[in-house]
Amino acid sequence: MSFTALVTDKGEDGKVASRIAELDDAQLPDGNVLIGIDWAGFNYKDGMALAGIGGLVRAYPHIGGVDFAGRVIESTDERYHPGQAVVLTGWRVGEWHWGGFATRARVDADWLVPLPKQLSTRHAMVLGTAGLTAMLAVNRLKSEGIKPSDGDILVTGAGGGVGSMAVLLLARLGYKVHAMTGRAELADDLKALGASEVVGREVLTKSGKKLMATRWVGAVDSVGGAPLGELLKQIHGGGCVAAVGLAAGDAWDASVIPFILRGITLAGIDSVMQPFEARTAAWDRLSALFGFGVYERMVREVGLADLPELSSEILAGKIKGRVIVSPKS
Ligand code: NDP
Repeated sequence: MSFTALVTDKGEDGKVASRIAELDDAQLPDGNVLIGIDWAGFNYKDGMALAGIGGLVRAYPHIGGVDFAGRVIESTDERYHPGQAVVLTGWRVGEWHWGGFATRARVDADWLVPLPKQLSTRHAMVLGTAGLTAMLAVNRLKSEGIKPSDGDILVTGAGGGVGSMAVLLLARLGYKVHAMTGRAELADDLKALGASEVVGREVLTKSGKKLMATRWVGAVDSVGGAPLGELLKQIHGGGCVAAVGLAAGDAWDASVIPFILRGITLAGIDSVMQPFEARTAAWDRLSALFGFGVYERMVREVGLADLPELSSEILAGKIKGRVIVSPKS
């Protein structure tokens, strides 16, 4: 059977470009479950893959899309049956393996999660990798002993996917959230998600000092780079930063001082290779906790043809919240 996809290819000049094409099921990679995709997500990593940067894609032609949700068409794995709703995030799908920017995908059953009953496939992609990652980061702050009564939490990159999800989740758990954004025009949106304060990126401007006055007991950081270095200097004793991303870079000038004088923790979050039990637990918690009504103002629906242009927008930090992709439109 034929299906539609956004195919990304590399020309002889080394340039990467994408176009919509009709392919046949026989061209799909190996895997034991064939899925009809209802919705895919559009993430920072998808922007990198479509722009051909970061060395994420192993072979061309390629179909991007690191997360998607849909229904099983065929399965040779007994855990999945035709018509069953499933969600996939991570496992290098959309990077090493063809992903969700298509009406069909064939994947390994071990990468799938049965969709929690209360979620539609659209809701699953409103959450997507960003929601799963934010949930794992919030869980980590909790497991490091950070309680709502301990003090304020900073979320960086709050206008983006992971950041806006983290703001909402933390607020619903009773934490006082400071949302850091470079876009002052998003203040009303971030307050509607539950932020108690909206702060500008200047709170993490390079100080040249090894320690600063303490301000936050914890943080979910999706920007990394130099701002993360400054953030560590402002965390209360015993506090924790959950490091999620690198929108501002992957390196900073580090000092051991905040760690040994304040006993802080820097905890890395990896949503991509989470084992099945941890994934299903996080999806169940997410679907029970999330407020889809309030988050809808942060959601934009697009089609496959819109994605090449959106890749430069997401890499420039201009996307608000979550972009979800209907591959049929
Ligand atoms: P988005 O582009 O949606 O969000 C990133 C946000 O960071 C932007 O919206 C912007 O927010 C802020 N930002 C961008 N550039 C800068 C800059 N130079 N300095 C400071 N802030 C900046 O991306 P996602 O939410 O999808 O992903 C965020 C990060 O997390 C990415 O690096 C991604 O690769 C990573 N990630 C990691 C995962 C994991 O498993 N560890 C899983 C998912 C994502 P604002 O304008 O509000 O300041």
